Amino acid sequence: MYISCSAEQKIIEIPDEGEAIVAGYWSHELGLCSQSVLLKWKNGKISSLHPLGHLESGPNKTQCWDDYFLLPGWIDAHVHLALDSLDFYQCLENWTQPSLIEENMQRFLQRYLERGIVAIRDGGDLSGFSWKAKVMVTEGVWLGPRVISVHEAVNRAGMYGRFLGRGFKDILEWQGNERDFFDQGLDQLKVVVTGLIRFDEFQKVGSTQWTVKDLTKLVESAHGRGIPVMAHASGEEGISVAIAARVDSIEHGYYMTTGQLERMREKGIAWVPTVAPIGNLLKYPTDRYSSHEIETLKRILEGHLAKIQEAYKMNVRIGVGTDAGAYQVPHAESLYDEMNWMIQAGIPRLEVCRMAIHENAQILGSPELGRLDVGTPMSLLQLAERNVFAKENKSFVI
Ligand SMILES: [Zn+2]
Repeated sequence: MYISCSAEQKIIEIPDEGEAIVAGYWSHELGLCSQSVLLKWKNGKISSLHPLGHLESGPNKTQCWDDYFLLPGWIDAHVHLALDSLDFYQCLENWTQPSLIEENMQRFLQRYLERGIVAIRDGGDLSGFSWKAKVMVTEGVWLGPRVISVHEAVNRAGMYGRFLGRGFKDILEWQGNERDFFDQGLDQLKVVVTGLIRFDEFQKVGSTQWTVKDLTKLVESAHGRGIPVMAHASGEEGISVAIAARVDSIEHGYYMTTGQLERMREKGIAWVPTVAPIGNLLKYPTDRYSSHEIETLKRILEGHLAKIQEAYKMNVRIGVGTDAGAYQVPHAESLYDEMNWMIQAGIPRLEVCRMAIHENAQILGSPELGRLDVGTPMSLLQLAERNVFAKENKSFVI
């Protein structure tokens, strides 16, 4: 078996049973421990965590991980494994050669583990590539983080999201296909509620695809099966529709308002604000955008970061998701970009870590993730750099 080592960006092979000295640990359950700890595991799961006194040294035959801090693995709450972050249209053309995409995905999956990311939630693709990745990882054929996949998204025919789902003419057509759609297999239902934001026109968002009444039917069809709903929504109108229909998480949510944040807190709806797909275009400059577009992006970014801080202060549930696969949002590394954007929004580093671990586990609907306690599988943990929390509000090095 293996454990992710984000400190060295590698995957370490370990025996099923063993012991090691680590520099400390943190988890939501156990809190922070900043002294040397003797960690033991059996059958691949933690069997004990014993802090060592100053003069005490560990027994022989222990692995020396005393440069590393033990944490639950990171989680990225929004990725697209079937996209390559380089060229959207070229990538869609490549979808006709599945072996090419599968090779890419295996590379990305490995990279996630090397970066300490032990679970990802995939927002879907029409061809079902991410679902295939999920199946391959679950069956142990491919090495990778746990994949929570929506399989295919639900969008309206002729509107935004052609690469995410087949598109339904209206709610009646959806209802006629509802059972087959769920029978394909899915971990969460992704609904495309609005189109994209525009980089050349501030506050302009692609049209809203569903009424509250229709979206509520979609949400109830999932909830009736015990399946959470993630909603792609931006702009005042679309976000309000998603909240009223009681989705479980709002993805992107550009142009969020204070009133909407209040309603989300009341209903326990999480926000995954995906800053990287806009922020990274400014952070890693390209000549793809005009100066007018750059100015618009700056305005969007500034407003978005301010709203994230507001959400944090209001105690709205915030998830950390990158939209990896989007242009300039590389798989795995971009989770560090996204965490840095959260820090830039004014959220303390430890809180950002808690969101990327504990809150994301709730958003994935997998509370067994994001933990570190006796019984936790070693493969769901990471060995992080020793001073991961010492740097207070500094950025993560990417
Ligand atoms: Zn997405």
